[in-house]
Amino acid sequence: MSNFDAVIVGVGFAGATVARELAEAGWSVLLVEGRDHIGGNAYDCTDEAGVLIHKYGPHIFHTQHKRVYQYLSRFTQWRDYQHRVVANVHGQLMPVPFNLTSLDIAFEDKAPALAEKLLRTYGAERKVTILELRQSSDPELAQLADYVYENIFKTYTMKQWGQTPEEIDPATTARVPVFLSRDDRYFQDPYQGMPLDGYTALFEKLLDHPNITLRLNTDAQAVLTLTQVGTVLVDGEAFKGTVVYTGAVDDLFQRRFGRLPYRTLDFQFETLPVEWYQTHGTVNYTVDQPFTRITEFKHLTGQELPRKTTVVREFSRAYTGEAGEIPYYAVINPENRALYQRYADLAGEYPNLHLLGRLAEYQYYNMDAIVLRALELADKLKTEKKG
Ligand code: FAD
Ligand code: UDP
Repeated sequence: MSNFDAVIVGVGFAGATVARELAEAGWSVLLVEGRDHIGGNAYDCTDEAGVLIHKYGPHIFHTQHKRVYQYLSRFTQWRDYQHRVVANVHGQLMPVPFNLTSLDIAFEDKAPALAEKLLRTYGAERKVTILELRQSSDPELAQLADYVYENIFKTYTMKQWGQTPEEIDPATTARVPVFLSRDDRYFQDPYQGMPLDGYTALFEKLLDHPNITLRLNTDAQAVLTLTQVGTVLVDGEAFKGTVVYTGAVDDLFQRRFGRLPYRTLDFQFETLPVEWYQTHGTVNYTVDQPFTRITEFKHLTGQELPRKTTVVREFSRAYTGEAGEIPYYAVINPENRALYQRYADLAGEYPNLHLLGRLAEYQYYNMDAIVLRALELADKLKTEKKG
C-alpha cells in the first residue's frame, strides 16, 4: 500500500475530486471510504418504491463558479431545476427566502407601503439579513422584522441548532436573507440543476479512472497511523506520499482534545400512494412541528412515477459521537473554532497530511465550495510535485 502516490480518506465530493485530479496527473491513488458506497452525503439511490432518494438529505446543486460547473459537467449532464421553497406558517404557504411575494401574503393590504419603504431603505433586489433588518429603527420596518423573525427564523433555527438566531454564527442565517425581489428561487446562482442520472452516477464517472483504487467499508484507522513524530504510517510503513483526509478531524486524533460539537439529523422517509404530496420541492415548517422541513424528491429529480412519491422529514439534534451517528453540521462559534484550530495545528505537524472538506475543515460548505477547494488543493499538490 505504501507504493501509492496518495492515500485519500472519504469519497464525498472532496475526496473524489482530488482523487480524479491526481489520477489524471499520473498519480496512483488509494481511496478509502468507511461506508459501503461512494458519494458521501450526496449519495442517492432508489428506494423500495422505485423513487430516487437522497439518503442523507436533499442535495441541490448550485454555483457561481464556472470552473466547478464546467468540471462537473465532464461527468454528468444536468436537469434544469431551480429550487423553490415555501414556509408553512400556520397553514399559509409563503416563499422562503422571505421576499416581496411573501410580504403580500403575510401583510395583505399593508404590503405595498411596506414594500415601498423597504425598497427605499435598502434598494431593489437587495438581500438583507434578518439580523440587519432587526436593527431598523423605523417602527414599521421593525414590526416587519419581528414578524419575519418570529415566523420564519426563530422556531426553525431552534429546531435546527437548539439555539436562537442571535446565538448561532451570523453567516448561517445570512444564507437565507430577506430578498427585496419577486424572484422566488431559493438560490440565485447562475448555474443550478440536478445531475441528470443522479449524484451516485456522477461519482461513478468521476472515479472511473485506472489510477484510482477504491476500498469501501474501510475506516481510515485500518490504513493510517499517525506517529508522535509527524510521520504518517500507511499499513504500518512510513508513507512518503500525500495523504488527504476528509473525515472529522477530531476522529483522526481519537478526540485527544475533546469532541468537536456537531448537529446530526434523523431522516424519516415516507412513500405515499399519490402523484404529489406537496406543491414545492421543499416546505419548511417554521412555526410548528418537530421536524424542520419536508422534501419531496420527485420535484427535484424530475422522475416520472405515477401514483407514488417519497418525502423526507428532517429532525435535527446534537451529535453525541455514538457509533452509527453522522456529524452533518459543524456548530460554528469562537469556542469550537478554537478547539478545531488545536486539531488543525496538530495536523500541521504532519507535512504530507492535508485536511479537506466540510468535516475536516469544520465549515459550512456547499458541494460547489468543496469541489472548488478540492480542485485548488489538487493544483497545489501537482505543482509541488513538479517543483
Ligand atoms: P462528505 O460528503 O461528508 O464526505 C465525507 C466522506 O468521508 C463520507 O463518505 C464519510 O463516510 C467518509 N469518512 C469520514 N470519516 C472517515 C473515516 N475515518 N474513514 C473512512 N471514511 C471516512 N450542499 C449543496 O451544495 N446543496 C445542497 O442542497 C445541500 N444540501 C445538504 C443537505 C444536508 C442535510 C446536508 C447535511 C448537507 C447538504 N449540503 C448541500 C452540503 C454537502 O453535503 C457537502 O458540501 C458535501 O457533502 C461535502 O462533501 P465532503 O466530501 O466534504 O463530505
Ligand atoms: N433558516 C430559518 N428558516 C428557514 C430557512 C432557514 O430559520 O425557513 C435559517 C436556519 O437557521 C438554517 C439557516 O437559516 O439553519 C440556513 O438555512 P439553509 O436552508 O441554508 O440550511 P441547509 O439547507 O444548509 O440545512
